[in-house]
Amino acid sequence: MINFIDYVIQSNKTIVEALNAINKNKHKIVFVLENNKLIGSITDGDVRRAILKKISLEENVASIMKKDFTKLLYNAPNHLVRNAFKDYLKIIPLVNDNDELVDFADAYSNHKLPLMKPKLDGNELAYITDCIKTSWISSQGPYVNKFEQDFSLLHSNYHAISASSGTSGLHLALAALGIGEGDEVIVPDVTFAATINAVLFVKATPVLCEIDSRTWCIDTNEVKKLINKNTKAIIPVHLYGQVCDMDNLIELAGDHDLFVVEDCAESLGSKWKGQLTGTFGDVSVFSFFGNKTITTGEGGMVLFKNKHFADKARVLRDHGMDKSRRYWHNEIGFNYRLTNIQAAIGVAQLERLPEIIKKKLEIANWYKNELKESLLIEKFPHESHDALHSHWLYTVQLSEKVDRDLVLDELLKSGVEARPVFYPLHQMPPYNQFNTSNNLGISNKFSKCSISLPSFEALTIYEIEYISHEFVNILKKLYEK
Ligand SMILES: *Cc1c(COP(=O)(O)O)cnc(C)c1O
Repeated sequence: MINFIDYVIQSNKTIVEALNAINKNKHKIVFVLENNKLIGSITDGDVRRAILKKISLEENVASIMKKDFTKLLYNAPNHLVRNAFKDYLKIIPLVNDNDELVDFADAYSNHKLPLMKPKLDGNELAYITDCIKTSWISSQGPYVNKFEQDFSLLHSNYHAISASSGTSGLHLALAALGIGEGDEVIVPDVTFAATINAVLFVKATPVLCEIDSRTWCIDTNEVKKLINKNTKAIIPVHLYGQVCDMDNLIELAGDHDLFVVEDCAESLGSKWKGQLTGTFGDVSVFSFFGNKTITTGEGGMVLFKNKHFADKARVLRDHGMDKSRRYWHNEIGFNYRLTNIQAAIGVAQLERLPEIIKKKLEIANWYKNELKESLLIEKFPHESHDALHSHWLYTVQLSEKVDRDLVLDELLKSGVEARPVFYPLHQMPPYNQFNTSNNLGISNKFSKCSISLPSFEALTIYEIEYISHEFVNILKKLYEK
């Protein structure tokens, strides 16, 4: 937050007083006020130049202030404000029609574009209010049932079981399938750690698999090489909304009698040949964390093809308690339930899923148009006739000569919060022992060179233009010499 006191000085003050004010703030600038009106600006550079010119520091600020400086109306549209920031100008005073100072725009904070933020302007508040008014705030209640039903209806009537998170959903899925010690589970080398952690929770052995160079999802041909008599399951992860090669994966799993556990945490709304992800495998898991396609704050959903496994999961979710004999436990379970309040948010979010996906596709198109000329972007999200990529996060792979982390830092200075893609699992201490193939070059390269750009639903085309413009210019400035 900007503290006004540190940024303004009255017009009857001296240069030395201005210098004191400048030293108090991180932008090294002070704005001059006269009768509440904004009349000038003084930077530390202006003071330095005054000293060189031997102007006395006891002179009035008017002797050195700039009358011609950047200011904007307080209600200027966001994209105008963002475009007004320069390398040397990271704070802009905002005035009203009388030229009175109203606020500041700060390139580093006020106008930062986050990677993701939820949009909760549908029925979320109404449904939560209903939970409070009726006192159904815990893990029983009509919204839990409705959320599960709506989700099931959308996903080929798979049996839907809500969970407290995507991670607990993955754990629940593997536990319900009976996967455990001695079983091998094949997971892609590039995914969020929760995918492999769930395998370790059930004491099974994860086996890391190379990714496909175009889709960045698990490579089916590589999966084939990793299958042995201990293999029990494959977890394809539809990374960033891209869809795995489902035809070949399902066929391969069928040939070897393996379970397919779809990790759909990032792919709600994505389709393979017109069919939604999550409706191919034996079980699929969704996440509703705050940055996912839809959110419940924290939350998840597990979809089972087979009712037997779904019933098992429902018991495990609920402390392993027998469904017909209360407080009788036949096995060790968990408390992985979603609350009615969370489900209420989920129901409202799901109502808007079609418009969310429509906007995601629009955002992806805007980015592609803005970025396609850049010589330093090597790969864009793969487009195939078979897949509808829902673009949870718009992700591109940069040329190997680019220092990706430096680009991220530079973007942040422009107020753009981008993000590196996941590290390859095999590079990290808890997981490196699970790399048996040693053939993970694509995964290494993708991880080292790729970034995800802001992809939240409320982004405007102006903001995408701004982000793309900054991104392309940073790449140019650093590498196209
Ligand atoms: C987010 C995510 C998860 C975990 O979901 P949480 O709800 O955060 O526990 C699992 N897998 C992938 C691929 C994810 O992106």
